[in-house]
Amino acid sequence: MRLLVDLYSAGMSEDCLFCRIVSGELPTDLLAESERSIAFRDINPQAPVHVLVVPRRHVPNVGALAAASSDDLADVFALVSQVARSEGVAENHRVVFNTGAGAGQTIFHAHAHVLGGADFSEHGLGL
Ligand code: 5GP
Ligand code: ZN
Repeated sequence: MRLLVDLYSAGMSEDCLFCRIVSGELPTDLLAESERSIAFRDINPQAPVHVLVVPRRHVPNVGALAAASSDDLADVFALVSQVARSEGVAENHRVVFNTGAGAGQTIFHAHAHVLGGADFSEHGLGL
């Protein structure tokens, strides 16, 4: 476990909010975790279920995560799936990764939004 902590803290960015949550420095509503990522509730939910899945590794966005580690990327999706099941939205949910301020990204540590519990066929982007 010590080795793991050292491994991931090596890439930690001290002024990154999600790194501080990953390290346990800031408290959060933790729902699930794995060796490579953690899942917790969004502080400002945009749907009845709004969970963030965050790789422990500090990278700025999902593209950088894919480039850095396909294992980390796959782990994020595995945790997304696990949380969607445990939150009861496995059959109806959206997974969103914002990349860049112009797309609405405000925290530059890669994360998936898992949104569910609402009817997105009527509300939202129409995607
Ligand atoms: P982004 O806009 O970067 O795609 O998503 C960042 C998300 O992080 C937003 O939905 C925002 O509500 C959430 N957020 C910001 N600060 C905190 C926090 O301190 N705790 C939690 N749980 N979520 C946060
Ligand atoms: Zn970070």
